[in-house]
Amino acid sequence: MYPQSQVLFERSKRIIPGGVNSPVRAFSSVGGSPVFIQSAKGSRLVDADGRDYVDFINSWGPMILGHQFDPVIHAVQNQLSTGVSYGCPTEAEYTMASLITEMAPWVDQVRLTSSGTEACMSALRVARGYTGKNKFIKFAGNYHGHADPFLVKAGSGLLTFAVPGSAGVPEGATQDTLIAEYNNLENVRRHFERDGSQIGAIIVEPVAGNMGCIPPQEGFLEGLRELCDYYSAVLILDEVMTGFRLAPGGAAERLGVKPDITTFGKVIGGGLPVGAFGGKAEIMNVLAPNGPVYQAGTLSGNPIATASGIATLTYLKNNPEIYSKIDTTTAKIEDLLKARFSKKEAVINRLGSMISIHFGGGQVINYNDATNAENDRFNALFHHLLKAGIYLPPSAFESWFVSNAINDEDLFRLESGLESFKG
Ligand SMILES: *Cc1c(COP(=O)(O)O)cnc(C)c1O
Repeated sequence: MYPQSQVLFERSKRIIPGGVNSPVRAFSSVGGSPVFIQSAKGSRLVDADGRDYVDFINSWGPMILGHQFDPVIHAVQNQLSTGVSYGCPTEAEYTMASLITEMAPWVDQVRLTSSGTEACMSALRVARGYTGKNKFIKFAGNYHGHADPFLVKAGSGLLTFAVPGSAGVPEGATQDTLIAEYNNLENVRRHFERDGSQIGAIIVEPVAGNMGCIPPQEGFLEGLRELCDYYSAVLILDEVMTGFRLAPGGAAERLGVKPDITTFGKVIGGGLPVGAFGGKAEIMNVLAPNGPVYQAGTLSGNPIATASGIATLTYLKNNPEIYSKIDTTTAKIEDLLKARFSKKEAVINRLGSMISIHFGGGQVINYNDATNAENDRFNALFHHLLKAGIYLPPSAFESWFVSNAINDEDLFRLESGLESFKG
């Protein structure tokens, strides 16, 4: 079915661990071997054998405007003619920071990084440096990149401290990570009652997208805000996935919650490596060279990446109707899924342009629910749709990413694919 991809995968496995540069791409979760991509345009990916797919990965979010989007391509091409990297400050970085602080006005100051991982890692360091408190709360099933303190799994009880979730992460690196259940405010409150004087931050995905899509329940984010205010902790909204996707100002704007620090990634780079973290000036002022918290990056604010980010954010800012359009497209996808699977068979969670399906019925509001779902059935659906020319994220634990390039023909292909699914 995918002969050239298989050849490439076998070859890659010899000299790249697992054949991939990020584990989810290897299809370990859904089984089988990954389809290698040769090119992409608009809503479609083309694989190494020349077959095309409707793309619901969209580079895990960044390609919200579709592949080879003209303004982004032109911006990158223009920058190529003036140099690819200087390691010195540029006006483009100021322009990028202006766009972010305008679109997310609760961000007074922002620093650019090259990935979401770096943004989250740095945001935590800033929060700890600012408050002088080392413990922080993270939610089971939320993902904040692969820095050591975030790579945890819950111990025996949820209120025990976290244990490393990866080999190579020493216990010392996670001893200050407290795990709570998503959408469980009582759980968070109990952490504060016990360790309040030592908790410097809560980090949270305002709409969880790394255990499928799980929206926050009414009052959850507001409750986190109140607890942070009461205990003088910093509220870090990890908007790496939701930022510039759910609204120009991300989930904070859409859901009306005010973070102290926000992290960005994915859409902010329009497909090039960009991340950012920012927040109140008073907090950001602890960063070197102004303050004692060290953070740096040889390629941070790289001119090519920044050009792509500026073009993407500018387009989104000037065409805000895109958001309702992508939401409508995603609502149509929701309708197609609901037409094919009954409430008893599957839960379809959606907020804006984030959507996922968890088989098994019953509500999915936290990590436990997500792991209890019938994920084998998702895997069968994944492979069926792949054959039908639809590339879903290869894991039941990922949100689908919808782009503005998805059209009626793409939706029709999805509809036919769902209809012929026998699983
Ligand atoms: C993708 C993601 C990250 C990590 O970003 P990378 O660019 O992959 O390092 C962090 N937080 C969330 C919520 C993400 O979805």
